[in-house]
Amino acid sequence: MDPVIAEFAQIGIVPEKPLVADIEIVEKVDSISIAGVLNGSVLLACTRCLGQALHNVAIDFSAEYVTEENFPSEAELEVTEEAFDLGLYDGTSIDLAEVVREQILLDIPERVLCRDDCGGICQKCGSDLNVESCGCEEVQADPRWSALKELKN
Ligand SMILES: [Zn+2]
Ligand SMILES: [Zn+2]
Repeated sequence: MDPVIAEFAQIGIVPEKPLVADIEIVEKVDSISIAGVLNGSVLLACTRCLGQALHNVAIDFSAEYVTEENFPSEAELEVTEEAFDLGLYDGTSIDLAEVVREQILLDIPERVLCRDDCGGICQKCGSDLNVESCGCEEVQADPRWSALKELKN
């Protein structure tokens, strides 16, 4: 297995089909610019039901890599208002797989649903509400009704 794919699998990201990367690298005197697009789709765990949720990847990114001695200090970075991606490299080579990995991780949404109206998992009995309705909602009574019930009893 591709090491990048293997690593994704570890954190629950499964490419649905191979990701297509179109990357351009421009080497400058003391930095390297990378610009590219990544396209594909990955399978993530649905936030509600933990089922498979498809996430389309369409990333347009650019990043600049500098060597450690050229990396701006924190103070300098604060002055730079422009939020660009600045990374470190060892001055000889860049691990493109790592660049791609980072971009995809940045693109993963915090919440992802298998479908817009995913019913999720019942908090009470753990039923997958997309598959069955367990009826727990009726039990989850409105406090006003339980007051009535007490009266009846
Ligand atoms: Zn779901
Ligand atoms: Zn239930």
